[in-house]
Amino acid sequence: MSIFEQYGCRKVINASGKMTALGASAVAPVVGDALSAAAKDYVDVSELLVAAGKVIASVTGAEDGCPTTGAAAGTAIAVASVIAGTNLSLIESIPHTNGVPNEIIIQKGHAIHFGASITQMISIGGGKVVEVGQANHVEKAHIAEAVCENTAALFYVKSHHAVQKGMQSIQTMIAIAKEKGIPLIIDAAAEEDLRKYIAMGADLVVYSGGKAIEGPTSGMICGRASLIEACRAQYHGVGRPMKIGKEGIIGFLTALQRYDERPDESEQQLERMKWLIEQLKDTPGVSGTILQDEAGRAIYRAQLAIDSKVTGKTAYDVIKELEAGNPAVYTRNHYANLGLINIDPRPLLAGQEEIIVARIKQVLAKGN
Ligand SMILES: *Cc1c(COP(=O)(O)O)cnc(C)c1O
Repeated sequence: MSIFEQYGCRKVINASGKMTALGASAVAPVVGDALSAAAKDYVDVSELLVAAGKVIASVTGAEDGCPTTGAAAGTAIAVASVIAGTNLSLIESIPHTNGVPNEIIIQKGHAIHFGASITQMISIGGGKVVEVGQANHVEKAHIAEAVCENTAALFYVKSHHAVQKGMQSIQTMIAIAKEKGIPLIIDAAAEEDLRKYIAMGADLVVYSGGKAIEGPTSGMICGRASLIEACRAQYHGVGRPMKIGKEGIIGFLTALQRYDERPDESEQQLERMKWLIEQLKDTPGVSGTILQDEAGRAIYRAQLAIDSKVTGKTAYDVIKELEAGNPAVYTRNHYANLGLINIDPRPLLAGQEEIIVARIKQVLAKGN
């Protein structure tokens, strides 16, 4: 019996992705061991924060780094750092920041919901959100013209949640930031490349520790030394109610250090998804295709189109029944309104694709 079943929770098969609502990542045993060892001991936490920064720097190529409890906290702390710096009075006044530059410029198609609102996280860090352009169309001029003496930073969201077409690129944001002498913060929460955006010239980059890095509930900010020092300083202010503990930091660092050596499983994942589609090819009303990740990552998901005229059930009905069972099967449902259900192979444990096929067949058989 799993630790969760001991508390009466159902077994969950996660075919959805790195979803916070399902516990983000299941960590490798070595990460779990490190987490457990750290939880049972003491450390000077400010010393640990500095040591963690050195590890983050070596993995990301940044000057320094600051561990956080997640990318959402990283966003709030990064924003606070560009507004308050290391000034204690300002640090203690956040999120109230009248009288100092506090405007954070974001393209309208980047004002996303990732499970919570990114603009709310910016506000928590004391930022006054300035959305520019339109939801599907932003020109360079929209961004450049918004910069004024109250601007604290530009903010870019690199994510499949963001509008992909019609937005200005990271390169353009960096060019504007350099020209105007203001920092650029990138939310790269779920991205797999931990060096790219620093190498491009971003000042601060925020990652989730529980997504691509497959750590425990955690995250990091990497970037310029002076700004990272300011990020650490926010733990005396707005960072306090979102602090990461010693065990979280050690679990995160362990996951981060093995990140580059992790095996590339995308080929096997693709094969498993092809197998799943093959198993469902004679099921009436379901047609499967392989779909690469919207953000261009090497993630190959099975996309199942549900024809409700044939099955008598909409994609929403099927999703609801899969989630209601035991084990509960959680699929990826961003396109359920189009009758599409996606299966994400990354979080699947060995053999779970067989259970998914059986459950889908069962759910659709009941409709006939
Ligand atoms: C998941 C996500 C977050 C939040 O990450 P946490 O580590 O759960 O706090 C923020 N921004 C984007 C774009 C995300 O995808």
